[in-house]
Amino acid sequence: MLELREVSTCYGNIQVLRGISLNVNAGEIVALIGANGAGKTTLLNTISGLVPPKSGQILLGGVSITRNSPSRIVHRGISHVPERRQVFGALSVQDNLLLGAYHRYRQDGRKNVMADIEQVYEIFPVLQQRSGQAAGTLSGGEQQMLAVGRGIMARPLLLMLDEPSLGLAPMLVREIFRVFTMLREQGTTVLIVEQNARAALNIADRGYVLERGRIVIEGTAEELASDEQVQYAYLGRRNGYRNDAKGKR
Ligand code: ATP
Repeated sequence: MLELREVSTCYGNIQVLRGISLNVNAGEIVALIGANGAGKTTLLNTISGLVPPKSGQILLGGVSITRNSPSRIVHRGISHVPERRQVFGALSVQDNLLLGAYHRYRQDGRKNVMADIEQVYEIFPVLQQRSGQAAGTLSGGEQQMLAVGRGIMARPLLLMLDEPSLGLAPMLVREIFRVFTMLREQGTTVLIVEQNARAALNIADRGYVLERGRIVIEGTAEELASDEQVQYAYLGRRNGYRNDAKGKR
C-alpha cells in the first residue's frame, strides 16, 4: 500500500533521513522503532507531506504522492496522529472529532460522519462522557484517545501514529494498542512509530529499526523481538549483546 524508495530528507543542509526504503502492505501493522533523534517523526512528516523529501519517491497504492500537499495526502487516504497529541484545546471533544472528518464532510454527509463519531465513542466511551468538554482540559491519556479518534474520523486507508504510548500509564498503553489491533481487523493499515518497542512489537506484523536516519534492521515482529541488538538497545536486555549482530535482513 505504502512504498518508500530511497527517501532522503534534510532540514536546511542537515540531512536527517538517508535513503529510506520501506513498505507497508494492506492490512498490516508495521512498527518503526528507534532511539531519540533517529528520524522517526521526520519520516512520518515526510510521508504526510509536512516536510518535503530532498530525494526519493513515496507511493500510495502504486501512485506517487511525493511532494503532494498535506491536505491532498489526507484526501488520498493517509491520516497522521502526531506526537504529543496536538488536539485543538479550545474546541470541544466532539468538534475535534468533527474536524478529523473535515475533508470528507461534504462528500459523505453529516449523517455518516455522526455515525462515525458514535463509533469512536464506542471505542473510547470516556470521550462520549466528555463530548462537550474543551479538549485542552482532558487528561493526557484522554487527549491521546481523542487524537487517535480524530485520526479514525478521517476513515484512512493508512493510519500513522507517532509515539501513541508517550506519557501513558501501562494500562492505558495496553488499551490504546488493543484499539490498533481492532482497527487492523476492520481493514485499516497501521504504521506506528514507537520508542516503546515492546508494546509496538507485541501488536505489529513487521517492523523496521531506524538509526541515525537509516534503516538498520527489518523483519517480522518475531524476528525483531528475538534479535540480540534490538533486545539490547530497545527491549532493556542487559547481557548477551554482540557487536556483530548487525545487518539488514
Ligand atoms: P524522538 O523519538 O526524540 O521524537 P525522532 O526519532 O522522532 O526522535 P526527529 O524528531 O525526526 O527524531 O528528529 C531527527 C533529527 O532531526 C534530530 O536531530 C532533530 O534535532 C532534527 N530536527 C527535527 N526537526 C527539525 C527541524 N524542524 N529543523 C531542524 N532540525 C530538526
